[in-house]
Amino acid sequence: MKRVKLSEKLEISNIALGFWRLDSWKMSKEELLKYLESAIKIGVTTFDHADIYGSYTCEKIFGEALALKPELRDKIELISKVGIKLVSQNMLENTYHCYDTSYDHIVKSVEQSLINLNTEYLDLVLIHRPDMYMDADETARALTDLKNSGKVLEWGVSNFLPSDFNLLQSRLNFKLVTNQIEVSPLKTEHFFDGTINLMQEKRFPAMIWSPLAGGDIFTSKSENVIQLRKVLKRLAQKYSCEMDSVVYAWHLAHPANFIPICGSAKIERLKSAVKGCSVKLTREEWFEIFQKGMGVDIP
Ligand code: NAP
Repeated sequence: MKRVKLSEKLEISNIALGFWRLDSWKMSKEELLKYLESAIKIGVTTFDHADIYGSYTCEKIFGEALALKPELRDKIELISKVGIKLVSQNMLENTYHCYDTSYDHIVKSVEQSLINLNTEYLDLVLIHRPDMYMDADETARALTDLKNSGKVLEWGVSNFLPSDFNLLQSRLNFKLVTNQIEVSPLKTEHFFDGTINLMQEKRFPAMIWSPLAGGDIFTSKSENVIQLRKVLKRLAQKYSCEMDSVVYAWHLAHPANFIPICGSAKIERLKSAVKGCSVKLTREEWFEIFQKGMGVDIP
């Protein structure tokens, strides 16, 4: 498995594994540990979390599995995210989301993630979403202090448009190392809004969430997705692989250097993602998938 260099200090695997849905997997600690070990064995060492996943439960579930074999910590990279807060007014009624990139919230949340994940440091933390109420100077101070303390090795962002990215970067004296964004053949807007262009311009890799559109590529009954599946099936036969490997190959072919995050609970599907690393699509095949996903030809 190819490793991708995000900075002098940090390299991650070209396929990451995400734990957004971990609370729905209903795995025991032992089963989760076995899954982590199987992932590491095939070269997937980078594990993506967020403080808020599973209404703040997923990091803890993961940390309990890691505690069964703490020596695994040196073989993996842990990513978390901060900045979305669930506000609950009276118990679970009237809950809503709020963005919080204040100094106190970022520091408190990262410290809680360290406890939950059972680790002394996080390899990478991302500001989860652009916060329209952000005070960039204050946010930058939190990121800088956590980096200087060694609790966070590197910082990045997620779902940031170029103007959001440039604002935060302008207040930091170190580089943000990635932007984690949603891209798939069914979600192509960041090819048009400058987000992917900025990453290629600044030469930092993009982490890709929902690379299979959360499974919709295989389950949707929309006409464009039915047509897309026909193309994926033909290419899967050509390259002797599963259809999902073709989708991963589509991501990995892009010159902006994509790191797809697989969200599956199944090792076979993670293996298909890894297999995608060795499938090399042609430019014409890349555009055929793009065009079928969009449902219209490009002009
Ligand atoms: P995904 O890989 O696009 O979707 C995974 C889902 O698709 C799983 O429920 C999986 O089910 C299902 N699936 C996969 N192959 C399938 C098939 N052939 N047929 C039917 N269903 C299939 O990724 P994701 O889970 O949406 O996102 C991946 C990660 O990205 C998350 O875990 C999280 O770490 C990150 N993320 C980040 C953000 C952000 O804002 N930064 C937002 C969302 C997610 P099985 O488990 O049964 O395989």
